[in-house]
Amino acid sequence: MAAWYFDSQPDELLLDFDEFDKPTRRGGGPWCEEFFRLRLQAAMEAGKLDVRDVWIVASATSRHKHVIVRLSTPMFQFERLTWQIHLGSDLYRARADYMRAGRGIIPASLLIEKTPIVDPVTGEPFWRRPDAECSCVEKHVTEDQFKLGDKACPVWRKYRGMSPWELWGPSPKPQQRVKLKDGHIPLDYIRAQIPKINGRQPQDPEIRKAWAMSRQMASRRR
Ligand SMILES: [Zn+2]
Repeated sequence: MAAWYFDSQPDELLLDFDEFDKPTRRGGGPWCEEFFRLRLQAAMEAGKLDVRDVWIVASATSRHKHVIVRLSTPMFQFERLTWQIHLGSDLYRARADYMRAGRGIIPASLLIEKTPIVDPVTGEPFWRRPDAECSCVEKHVTEDQFKLGDKACPVWRKYRGMSPWELWGPSPKPQQRVKLKDGHIPLDYIRAQIPKINGRQPQDPEIRKAWAMSRQMASRRR
């Protein structure tokens, strides 16, 4: 089964860490320390966050964890989303959370757990029930859910039945590099889709033009 927790509570921050212990570029300390514990500590000490509880939820992979912070005072959604980023939550998820919030999609931010949250050591149940539950055992991978069509998870369909592509278009494929100059940029430079082919010129005239322009600029720079 899966237990879904939405940003339905104005006093909760829902953080998602793909690599909880990944060394940070600055200092090399674990991500969970530098971005979560230290920043939370500083915010608490400065009186910026009035924290009531912290709960860490382990996932199947040890590097991946969810953290839920309960506050003593409720907070507006955009402020909560911003604290989530500041405390080190995943940025790719955050950009989609913001876009959903901006478009009034509910929920904007969520966490999916394998079961309702319980403390693995004490057995203490989490302070609230999930917002939704489904019988899925596998992770809800967007592409797989799309392939299932009508048979897709009903909870996923209701609350997440869209691809991130619908927010900003598909992820770009790797291409030959087009160098951008300063100033007013011809849109051909942006549009040109120059495949990664070892030095051979593409056939499409539009692409050839942008390709030639980028080569010209590159040679001018030399
Ligand atoms: Zn499901």
